[in-house]
Amino acid sequence: MDNKKVKASYSLRAVLGRMLKKAADQNPRLFAVCGIYTIAAAVYPFLAVALPGLLLGELQKGSQASLEAVFGIVAGYFVLAALFGFVRTFLNEGTYSKLSFLRLDYVRASSVKIMEMAYPHTEDASFLQKYEKALIATQSNDNGVEGIYHKLFEMPAVFLTVAALGVFIGRLSLWIVAGLFLNLAVMVWVSAKNHSLRYEKKEEEAAWSRRIGYYNRATCDFTYGKDIRMYGLKNRILENYREQIEGYRSLNRMLSGREYRLGLAGLIAALVSDMLTYGILIARTAGGMSIADFSMYLTAVLTLSACLRQAAEQIRFVIQEGQYVHELYRFLDEDLGEKGGSHPAVADGTLEVVFDNVSFRYPGSETYVFRHLNLTIQKGERLAVVGINGAGKTTLVKLMMGLFDVTEGEIRINGIPIQNFDKKALYSMFSAVFQDINIMAFTVRENVAGRLSDIDDKRVDHVLAQVGLTEAVDSLPQKTGQMMLKVIDEDGALLSGGQSQKLAIARALYKDACMVIMDEPTAALDALAEAEIYENFSELVKGKTAVYISHRLASTRFCDHIALFEGDGLAEYGTHEELMERRGRYYEMFMVQGKYYTQKGGESRECV
Ligand code: ADP
Repeated sequence: MDNKKVKASYSLRAVLGRMLKKAADQNPRLFAVCGIYTIAAAVYPFLAVALPGLLLGELQKGSQASLEAVFGIVAGYFVLAALFGFVRTFLNEGTYSKLSFLRLDYVRASSVKIMEMAYPHTEDASFLQKYEKALIATQSNDNGVEGIYHKLFEMPAVFLTVAALGVFIGRLSLWIVAGLFLNLAVMVWVSAKNHSLRYEKKEEEAAWSRRIGYYNRATCDFTYGKDIRMYGLKNRILENYREQIEGYRSLNRMLSGREYRLGLAGLIAALVSDMLTYGILIARTAGGMSIADFSMYLTAVLTLSACLRQAAEQIRFVIQEGQYVHELYRFLDEDLGEKGGSHPAVADGTLEVVFDNVSFRYPGSETYVFRHLNLTIQKGERLAVVGINGAGKTTLVKLMMGLFDVTEGEIRINGIPIQNFDKKALYSMFSAVFQDINIMAFTVRENVAGRLSDIDDKRVDHVLAQVGLTEAVDSLPQKTGQMMLKVIDEDGALLSGGQSQKLAIARALYKDACMVIMDEPTAALDALAEAEIYENFSELVKGKTAVYISHRLASTRFCDHIALFEGDGLAEYGTHEELMERRGRYYEMFMVQGKYYTQKGGESRECV
């Protein structure tokens, strides 16, 4: 994203206003707690300021009574310091988790946003990059949203202390206060300058780190071990490493150099302020001010100086992290939702899908995946979609399911233009199994049913049996109630790649939608398991329109038609016999695969 644009539209006031409103809506008591904390935390440093002056004043008297007063002062100091210190710490600690809850609410809001946004965003690299930045604002307790909430909670106390000490010291000399504020102004300026420098170069720095990280992972990941040795990649990797590290180093050298020069300005401002403070205090003491007052004012100046530094740091932090929160708000405010029509799901049992002169290229891409594609998938038909990798097989089903909109032409489902359907209704009409299987950290039955309640357990058992998973699930301690994965439950079950694929097929069967789509669902299965799924396929999709994507041509034997994709569209279409007779591309591919299988397995096309 354009950094200038971010800066131009970035309004810290608006960001903080929204954050405070959220806190007020969620937990208005936080403001009262912050008020009490502010008083306790602002009184605390004054105790330390008053103590040395009071002690010196009494000690200088040198009488028995003054010695007793010293004990009284020390005891009083400890009691008050303990009391205010306790209140301060207690309230700060107690509020910590409440501020974390505010952050978790933002985490939840962004998760909902992602799950509800239009699907194409999930495949758009530039969008993901932008989203990553927004997510940083919710990732930790100490930065972003929560970091700012913590600072906003503490800042009033620091500001109150600064104001009170400023007035106290200002009554002695406004010059000392002016010197301290000058120092603060320079510190804030230096820090803001440094930050904007780093922010400007953030993407460049991230790019260098990412590249270094890649080579680091490649060398530390043992799965690369064989390739590195067999192909002598070591020197190539080391050379790249050297280049990336050099790039990273020169960028950092440039940044550090500028930071160092800016740091000098800060140093000069601190010197001026110190000279003013000590010069004026010494002059006043020479002019008759007591040592006790000297000591008290010096402690006050040192405390104010520390508070100013803290305030500067807090302001810098809020400005810096506010940019991330601003990006989070931009993300949450952006209209990213699915844009569909209002047509409900069709009620005619199964689907007919017509691609009418469809052309398609991915958003942001110049290359057409399809040009003028005409294809009809009849009701109840089983269509095998074949073709080499990258031919557009998966894209075909993404269009059919309304995950992407066509660039030109029209897709109709049972005669209704696909864009007229309500998106949720559209998704409900498809049972799909994709190549990348995602098992969730739910129980087995929840994974199969895709929901938490109203699960038909008989159906769960039935579909698990259909895909041949009964035995595996029965061997789990909690059977279908067994939690999956180890993320939530340490005893969660892990399935093999093939078993996961079967579970995904079971999920599609449980859904029992009008149309079944299987996108290379057997890629992770061994030959036997694959044959088992093939054999059951007709049964699995009985009475439904089904699309079966595979680059293995053996899958075509139980399909009514075969559509072979190549280049920018449909290259061949027909039954297996028709395409074999045609002696075209399908025939060629079939012969190559058949030969391979025959040679390998001693069998013909049935052997996969
Ligand atoms: P297949 O399923 O036949 O292997 P795909 O449908 O996945 O092929 O991909 C077809 C073409 O579209 C490929 O060139 C692929 O690189 C490209 N492609 C796939 N997804 C995207 C995307 N999200 N953005 C841009 N191009 C894509």
